[in-house]
Amino acid sequence: MEPGQIRKHVRLSSYTTLRAGGFAEKLVEVWHSDELGAAALLAQASEMPTTVLGAGSNVLPSDDGVPGLTIINRATRIAVARTGEVLAESGCSFQDLFLKTAQAGLRGLEFAVGIPGTVGGALVSNAGAYRSCVSEFLTGIEVAHDGKREWVDPSWMEFSYRDSILRKSNPPQAAILRVAMKLPLGDPKAIYDEAREYQRQRIGKQPPSASAGSFFKNVNDARLAESLETLPIALKKAGVVPAGYLIESAGLKGFRMGGAMFGKKHANFILNVGGASAYEIRRLAAHGRGRVRQKFGVDLEEEVLYLGDWTQFTT
Ligand SMILES: Cc1cc2nc3c(=O)[nH]c(=O)nc-3n(C[C@H](O)[C@H](O)[C@H](O)COP(=O)(O)OP(=O)(O)OC[C@H]3O[C@@H](n4cnc5c(N)ncnc54)[C@H](O)[C@@H]3O)c2cc1C
Repeated sequence: MEPGQIRKHVRLSSYTTLRAGGFAEKLVEVWHSDELGAAALLAQASEMPTTVLGAGSNVLPSDDGVPGLTIINRATRIAVARTGEVLAESGCSFQDLFLKTAQAGLRGLEFAVGIPGTVGGALVSNAGAYRSCVSEFLTGIEVAHDGKREWVDPSWMEFSYRDSILRKSNPPQAAILRVAMKLPLGDPKAIYDEAREYQRQRIGKQPPSASAGSFFKNVNDARLAESLETLPIALKKAGVVPAGYLIESAGLKGFRMGGAMFGKKHANFILNVGGASAYEIRRLAAHGRGRVRQKFGVDLEEEVLYLGDWTQFTT
């Protein structure tokens, strides 16, 4: 299947939930995983840098643009068997996947309620919440990589906490086309009750403004957790310090630079509260990281991915 029409110099802010960033050099929207595979393989063959975007809910493209081809993935087909096998195109929304699997009486993906991205984006950052993550349920992944389409074992992705091989510096040029999962049968009432409870907790915590969700990853550091008097006991036991706790303790809750602000409800959300540029958002993030390093001696690591050309960026 041939990919659709390629457009040049397309503003990316409307393709991201942070509503910021410059232009894609070239952009194409694809509606089928075959089209996604064809576009990715063509770009790989001509050594053109390629960025696949799902819902753009975990990225910040540079104001100076994203070179090469940006592929907007709108391939959304999902097939669910009552035996628990699931086959989904990578552009389907993670929440739709939960709904379709729940309708078939399958449990496991309740945590996806409220995570706004696609399944492809979820795999790249091993998205998760409430002690579950997407990698737990995978049985296979179809990728376009190294000049061919192939099914690989989930271990190919080298998953860890909010991380995979596709987030590393110089990652392999690969597009995720389809994913296969196996989910256990569950009690329908328990599935929906759990999902509703997660949704209720999110509504209480998540601000409505433009954001990319949690900007930084939480910190796994048992010694730091133990040393923080006001950290809840469950987090001390787990040795986990939420990034939002550190940012808030550094006095930055609600702190604003230009159009970018650390959330007032949830300090680990950076919000675009008024036409923020990507540079403003990244500068605020750098300021937060600096203050947390000064106060606690730890380096926060971004969960959000910076896309494109940042060579002119200074803090
Ligand atoms: C309000 C809000 C709440 C959130 N809550 C959570 C949460 O609870 N837990 C959590 O883990 N995340 C959360 N997120 C972050 C985000 O929604 C997830 O990381 C999501 O899975 C990203 O999917 P996406 O389609 O938007 O990816 P994008 O932002 O479009 O892309 C992310 C990265 O994946 C790459 N990519 C995307 N699709 C493909 C593909 N098919 N093949 C190869 N590479 C690809 C992109 O190039 C990019 O590097 C939240 C975000 C928001 C805005």
